[in-house]
Amino acid sequence: MRKPRPAAYNPAQALHLIANDRNGAPLSCPSCSGSIEKSPGIAPPLPRSHITLRCTECGRIARYIAGAA
Ligand SMILES: [Zn+2]
Repeated sequence: MRKPRPAAYNPAQALHLIANDRNGAPLSCPSCSGSIEKSPGIAPPLPRSHITLRCTECGRIARYIAGAA
């Protein structure tokens, strides 16, 4: 039986999205190509703050910590 899939990216998709954000590249959802909402929306982010990238179309989220390797 398949479990319902949680609204999260698989690790490869999350890494891709996070890498793009760190590079300042335009963000689009790796799953559905929807637009990405970033919070907090300040730039540059505070060191060690938690950044959340959320797709406004499918609701998937990816999180990372700014300034961490
Ligand atoms: Zn999406």
